[in-house]
Amino acid sequence: MNIVKKNITVKAPVRSNLERHPVPVLGIDYKVKIEYRNIKIAELDVENKTIKISLPNKYKKTSNTKILDLAIEKMYEQIAKVEIERAMEKVRIELGFAPEDYEIKNIGKKLGFCEDNKITVNPEVVMFHRDFIDYVVLHQYCHLKYKTHAKSFFKLLEKHEPNYKKFDTMIKELNYIN
Ligand SMILES: [Zn+2]
Repeated sequence: MNIVKKNITVKAPVRSNLERHPVPVLGIDYKVKIEYRNIKIAELDVENKTIKISLPNKYKKTSNTKILDLAIEKMYEQIAKVEIERAMEKVRIELGFAPEDYEIKNIGKKLGFCEDNKITVNPEVVMFHRDFIDYVVLHQYCHLKYKTHAKSFFKLLEKHEPNYKKFDTMIKELNYIN
């Protein structure tokens, strides 16, 4: 299955160690595999729960933790563009209204916020399942109507996601804020 296939421009590598934890994408842990090929810029491919990163041969002698970090970061960005757009569209159809604009931006421990009719979503949401992404987006859509976590806010939220408490608990356990 090809989730993403994208050329990545990378900066010069730094010397550090190669070990890496599994990379979670949409709730699934992926292994990272590196190979060196006769290519000019780095490439990234996803298959069989493995993220395969191909690097130009010239990087063979150098350690490449930084390249890997950049490649993974780029991959999250690409997946976030697709997944958050999908969730925005899904929730828009469900609720019948939409923000004027939305932005995908790393906002630390916040998963999303809503201000001036604009929704901002943290790309880190793509580490988790699609249901979770949809919930984060739905929550912010509800803030378009109600700024604070008042009763009316939760009433609207519950109407469209009866299990909202489950997601809120999960978010707290992950040390995020929504
Ligand atoms: Zn909120």
